[in-house]
Amino acid sequence: MALGVLAISLFTLWASRDAAIEHAHETSKNVTAVLVSNIARTVETSDNSLRSLITALDNPAVQAMDPGLRHELLFNRTAAAYVTGMGITDDHGRVIDGCCSSSHAWDFSDRDYFIAQRQSANAGLYVSSVYRARSRSGAQSIAMTRRVNRPDGSFGGVAVVAVDIGYFKQLLAKLDVGPNGITAIVREDGTLVARNPPISQARMVNLGHSPTFPRMVAQDSGFYAATSSLDGVQRLYTFQRVPGTPLIAVVAPAKSDVLAAWRRLSWIIGVSAFSVSLAFGTVVWLLAFALRDHAKTHVLLTDLTQTDPLTGLRNRRVLDDVLETEWARLQRTDDPLSLLFVDADNFKQYNDKHGHAQGDIALKHLAECINRHVRRRGELAARYGGEEFVVVLPNTNEAGALQTGEAIRREVEYGRPTGSSAAIPPFTVSIGCATGRRSPPSSLDHLTKSADLALYAAKRQGRNAVVAAGGGVSP
Ligand code: GH3
Ligand code: MG
Ligand code: MG
Repeated sequence: MALGVLAISLFTLWASRDAAIEHAHETSKNVTAVLVSNIARTVETSDNSLRSLITALDNPAVQAMDPGLRHELLFNRTAAAYVTGMGITDDHGRVIDGCCSSSHAWDFSDRDYFIAQRQSANAGLYVSSVYRARSRSGAQSIAMTRRVNRPDGSFGGVAVVAVDIGYFKQLLAKLDVGPNGITAIVREDGTLVARNPPISQARMVNLGHSPTFPRMVAQDSGFYAATSSLDGVQRLYTFQRVPGTPLIAVVAPAKSDVLAAWRRLSWIIGVSAFSVSLAFGTVVWLLAFALRDHAKTHVLLTDLTQTDPLTGLRNRRVLDDVLETEWARLQRTDDPLSLLFVDADNFKQYNDKHGHAQGDIALKHLAECINRHVRRRGELAARYGGEEFVVVLPNTNEAGALQTGEAIRREVEYGRPTGSSAAIPPFTVSIGCATGRRSPPSSLDHLTKSADLALYAAKRQGRNAVVAAGGGVSP
């Protein structure tokens, strides 16, 4: 039962651990969705700006405008706070006009977005990789770009909206993913756009080499657990692609944070279950010991009530029970039942001559002699009282009874220890035998009386003899 309680506790805890991870996944999914929708809105707004810029540039009326006025019209609008630069280049990547770069002749022909837009007429909205802005003393940015076509469809330049990385960092900083969790925006080429907590440029790695990264690129969204190669912390990664862009939002709480509450609960439940099981086991153990002792005492007591203390033979109470049982069995079978009445000869004199203590020793010896010849299953040797003993021999006929009686008589007469400190002065026994069958004698009383009479006959014959009730005498 204790093990059962422990097993159930363990199983429940394991299930609740899975539930905690599942819950963290759900929360991460929601956080990721919020992050993605924020970025998507930014991208959309930037794209709208690009589209309206290109449409305006296509407008002949705008083209015909005075450059100062046109600059005023196209760029001096209040742009969103995160937009740090906006401009257009010619087909060589030189800035023609822009909100932050009118005074410099910047050349962006080496930028990935310029190369991509020049190469393909169908690049659409191109989100660049992270670069250091020339116009803003190296601040990190990414650019949303669209191709500007000449009326004949050939490459005419690029329209650019630059977004400071600080904007993404701010977005990430607002999300709470626990003390050891991270949030990140990753580009599909494996470069980190932003990460919270931030890491130094030197430690910035390309995630493209990570074994789990291909999964992020291959799926629109997903969930997996992995150990960070940057800090070795195990995290639960939930990622989602910002639709229509190469950007992937990643939310990854640390597994240790996710399971912290569960761990505390596990400790409490674990320690409680273990203590209860231990207490239960101890109580049962103690009870088992108490029961065993009780059973032992019971056996001992039963033994005491059935045993004659001087000789160790069964007492008269057992003898009466066994006689009843054997007599009942005799009524159901054809097997004979024999009794031997064994009585020490002239024992009063023996006591008088050698002392009562020596008499006791002689009686013990007599009991041993009887026991040595009463070995078969079902046979019983009992002390009837005083210096009288009774032997019950089931399944034994007259001849067998006489034989056993004679063996006992001889053993008493000759089998004593002599000539040492344990020497027993000689004594003899007289034995009366009676054998009963289903009919006649017809009662147990009759059988015992017959054995008693046979014993008297043996005494009359001069003692140290074995006499059978039917008149048989041992040779
Ligand atoms: P018989 O041959 O006719 O049986 O003579 P007996 O003296 O043995 O018979 P009796 O019945 O006159 O005496 C029995 C004696 O057995 C009396 C008693 O002192 C002695 N006796 C009975 N029980 C014990 C016992 O437990 N220990 C000792 N030492 N003697 C006992
Ligand atoms: Mg007697
Ligand atoms: Mg006697």
